[in-house]
Amino acid sequence: MASTYEQRQWLARYDAGMPSDITPSFTDALTMFRDAVRRHADRPLIHYFDRTLAVGEVDRMTDALGAGLVSLGVKPGDRVAVYLQNIFQFVLAMIATWKAGAVMVSINPMNKARELEYLLVDSGASVLVTLESLHADPTIAVLATGRTKVHTVITTCETDLLGGGPPPAVLAGVQKHRPEGTVDLLELIERHDGQAPPAPTLNADDVAFLTYTSGTTGPPKGAKNTHGNVVFNSEAYRTWMSLTPDDVVLGVAPLFHITGLVAGVTVCLLTPMPLILGYRFDPTAVLDLIEQFRPTFTVGAITVFIALMNDPSAPDRDFSSLTKVYSGGAPIAPSVVTNFEKLTGAYIHNIYGLTETTSPSHGVPMDGRAPVDPTSGALSVGVPMFNTVVRVVDEEGVDVAVGEIGEFVTSGPQVVSGYWEKPEETAHALPGGALHTGDVGFMDADGWYYLVDRKKDQINASGYKVWPREVEDVLYENDAVREAAVIGVPDEYRGETVKAFVSLRPGATATEAELIAFCKQRMAAYKYPRSIEFVDELPKTVTGKILRRELRSAEAAKTTTE
Ligand code: AMP
Repeated sequence: MASTYEQRQWLARYDAGMPSDITPSFTDALTMFRDAVRRHADRPLIHYFDRTLAVGEVDRMTDALGAGLVSLGVKPGDRVAVYLQNIFQFVLAMIATWKAGAVMVSINPMNKARELEYLLVDSGASVLVTLESLHADPTIAVLATGRTKVHTVITTCETDLLGGGPPPAVLAGVQKHRPEGTVDLLELIERHDGQAPPAPTLNADDVAFLTYTSGTTGPPKGAKNTHGNVVFNSEAYRTWMSLTPDDVVLGVAPLFHITGLVAGVTVCLLTPMPLILGYRFDPTAVLDLIEQFRPTFTVGAITVFIALMNDPSAPDRDFSSLTKVYSGGAPIAPSVVTNFEKLTGAYIHNIYGLTETTSPSHGVPMDGRAPVDPTSGALSVGVPMFNTVVRVVDEEGVDVAVGEIGEFVTSGPQVVSGYWEKPEETAHALPGGALHTGDVGFMDADGWYYLVDRKKDQINASGYKVWPREVEDVLYENDAVREAAVIGVPDEYRGETVKAFVSLRPGATATEAELIAFCKQRMAAYKYPRSIEFVDELPKTVTGKILRRELRSAEAAKTTTE
């Protein structure tokens, strides 16, 4: 018999005029793309400033690049790491990797050497595709350690595929400069033009990409987003948002993150419809792209919409094409939704999911508006999407009553089967295949979900997740530091930001600015602490475990009394 949660969720979708379940037509994302090539080879697939690539062109280029990867020794099941900004070459590398039967590992281009090395070692990637500019510093340092299995570095330049007009402001001053000892991506394509690798056999449970997340327990783990997961959630986006080849997608989410990959790239490969890329997020450049390409659909972190609204030119801009606007990854203040709608006419729909749910598990239906919880003031994250059951459970894993608070436990075809070579973490987060999200909240009587807290220690800085342990580990590398504890503190723009509490070794000295600079050098920009408080002793349990929880409550008490 269906549980209360299942029944309410069917009804919630029914109320929104949606089917409860959908059945994707493909088992793997490559066949899905090949079907789009067959139907719509001439339609635009990616816009990047003054250049557009059509579906058929991308197919031909990725056939060649796939053949190139095979010639470099890439075999089915191998991992190809892609360490790029939002540029054409990201999508080309991804499809070519699948054509070679391999798995793409997406790496945040903000990562510094220590983070890059961890991901390359963990994934066992044999080929790294990167920007020339990133090769100069982090990559060389990492490859020199000899600890990774990378045998080939393919480099590319963010201006390589532009149309020949003056470069946009975000790319001003960029010069092509191929580093020695690397293979140039476009040369590889040219060398293999007209060729294609032998068609790989891809099944629904083969991994399409590894996306790294700290999940409910750090350190970062590679979530195995399978072809089945990807095809399902691409189809879910297409159906939920009624997307057609006449839609145009604004790719503001970074492509290395699961939302950029699925709400950006793969739903466009399915439909097909064009994806607008703009290197990295810059509000003025994005506003220009909106007016140039007239996108209809986008999914971005809420800070993207705040930044667009606050751009001085915003009141004079034309937002009228944007009719399907979604924001996920971090909590949304209801006032931001109201202000954005006033300015642009577009209502921001909430959408919620995790790396482990291959982008969304919940969303606000296109024709609906998210209710606000009168007690907490939280905007609902939506109702569970197709084929998905989300239970809310207590500490013992038992369903709590409707309206009561517990942890979200998600089951559905978008939930990953586990983490790359991490059986213990997989068993912990996905017992029996259901994802224990670490997010705490409730479902109301109409099947709408609200997030009120997090069980995990993770910090959410405008959608970028920071695992405190990683920041603490870097602080411990500093000789002056005796003990360190890191927590998230409220931040007006980012929602949360990183704060460290540090005790120093006897006789040692260090200033806040020195320790911040030390961390900044060693980690991606969103992770380093923005403030440091020096303390004599950190709060601990009797067994000596540092109590981040206590620091968080002391900090919260400070904010309420201020
Ligand atoms: P990630 O794996 O980076 O996609 O992060 C997933 C986490 O982001 C979730 O577990 C939530 O804590 C948070 N999150 C995602 N979507 C939302 C949303 N719409 N509102 C609030 N938090 C969200």
